[in-house]
Amino acid sequence: MNPSDSTTGRPDRSHALSALRNAVSGAVLTPDDPSYEAECTGHNLLHVARPAVVVGAVAVEDVVAAVRFARSQDMPVAVRNAGHQTVLPEGPGEWLLITTGRMDDVRVDPHARTATVGAGARWRKVVDASAKHGLAPLAGSAPGVGVLGYTLGGGIGPLLSRSHGYAADHVRRMDMVTADGEVLRVTPQSDPELFWAMLGCKGNFGVVVSMEFSLFPVTRFYGGGLYFRGEDTAQVLAVWRQWLTTLDEDTTTSVAVQRLPEAPDLPDVLRGSFVLHVRVGHQGPASRGEVLVAPLRRAAVCLLDTLAERPVTEVGEIHVDPVRPAPVSGTSVGLREFSAATAEAFTALTDADSGCPLASVEIRALGGALDRQPPVPNAVPSRGLPFVSFAFGVAEGERAEPVQKYLAAYAEGMSPWADRRDIVNFLSPESAFDEAEMRRVFGEERYTRLAAVKRRLDPGNVFRLNHNVLPG
Ligand SMILES: Cc1cc2nc3c(=O)[nH]c(=O)nc-3n(C[C@H](O)[C@H](O)[C@H](O)COP(=O)(O)OP(=O)(O)OC[C@H]3O[C@@H](n4cnc5c(N)ncnc54)[C@H](O)[C@@H]3O)c2cc1C
Repeated sequence: MNPSDSTTGRPDRSHALSALRNAVSGAVLTPDDPSYEAECTGHNLLHVARPAVVVGAVAVEDVVAAVRFARSQDMPVAVRNAGHQTVLPEGPGEWLLITTGRMDDVRVDPHARTATVGAGARWRKVVDASAKHGLAPLAGSAPGVGVLGYTLGGGIGPLLSRSHGYAADHVRRMDMVTADGEVLRVTPQSDPELFWAMLGCKGNFGVVVSMEFSLFPVTRFYGGGLYFRGEDTAQVLAVWRQWLTTLDEDTTTSVAVQRLPEAPDLPDVLRGSFVLHVRVGHQGPASRGEVLVAPLRRAAVCLLDTLAERPVTEVGEIHVDPVRPAPVSGTSVGLREFSAATAEAFTALTDADSGCPLASVEIRALGGALDRQPPVPNAVPSRGLPFVSFAFGVAEGERAEPVQKYLAAYAEGMSPWADRRDIVNFLSPESAFDEAEMRRVFGEERYTRLAAVKRRLDPGNVFRLNHNVLPG
């Protein structure tokens, strides 16, 4: 029997830790371990974790042991994979972090047209493994993003989302470690309400250790981007807005005003430049794509044109998102329209005279299948939202404050067109513990339903270090 602390009745920490180390095949690290710092650092250098214990899981049993240890020590549990949206408490504290990056197993079943992936899988590996069988997943814009975090938050991709809907709409099964440290298989048949809640409400109900989802027969696409001078934004946006009205669901598009860094891996013409980047993902061949994008090419003088027919493994070339870890602050605004007035305000907030310090301010056109309920419903709250804007800046220390102030000013400037609905995946970590914000994003009815599932699965809110729905 483990000795207990006489004041709290909890198992003594050092005994509990050595039992945890014996049970876990992966890493168990505390702040005095040399590898602790590296294990706690994810994609966003502004949010470095400082938990009492971090478990680098390599197997489901490690996740089970970590959750049971945390329960025994009254610690909340956070989960991090690729670290693009990790929600963490400020500073050091009594909580436990499970990192899942080592659990990156990907299995493709070409006959069933499914992939089954572990908690540490990123899109790059799933895209490549699927392409070998002429198939594609509903991947996001950045191949380095974690598959499970993305899919549990809905998941909107740059190529297939307007024709196929959210990635969450095509999940068939999830295996999860619950707050009691039990492994639970969740399917639409086994627990329809939990299945509904998990897809859209992220890590509120447990640690998902495996997920099976559908793949689609897509091998090639026509797409990439057109880079215009930032000064031509108003003119190009006028063409883009008109062009949007002509699109079928087989085309997905977005625009981003970008202040690009002096990075050596960028083409000369883009290095250190202020640009408008128009992105296109079209599911037809080059012959159709070339006709489709002709009006965009004529919108203004183009600095760089990367539109081409490509293998589906190049889906990351549509947005060309930054890949290196950086100190990032971001904000998201769901938009009920992107009218001439919205475009005018957007341009004024981002142009050369605006003092905008942000690296990228993006507008994604949604619609199509993203508006429709899937056959098996889920809690994704943004259905019917026509546009979303995601803005981010890169700065740390004192330089982070003006960026964060500008993000607030940008959201305020777009507020006349803002919708209650938002993309869960784009919510900033800072908004995670704000109950009013979560009620806004999910809407009262959905929030109440999610809170009931939370009460059933995790009444003590062990999984509260995320965009949290309270158990009530
Ligand atoms: C450059 C970039 C591009 C992006 N592009 C897109 C895009 O095209 N479409 C889109 O929809 N989103 C996009 N996103 C948002 C992205 O989908 C989310 O940030 C997603 O949560 C990232 O998952 P992660 O594993 O990378 O991050 P992490 O920070 O590791 O995880 C984020 C959160 O997901 C939850 N989570 C992760 N794994 C698990 C698990 N196994 N069990 C339970 N909960 C878990 C946790 O709550 C965690 O806090 C992008 C983000 C960035 C930075």
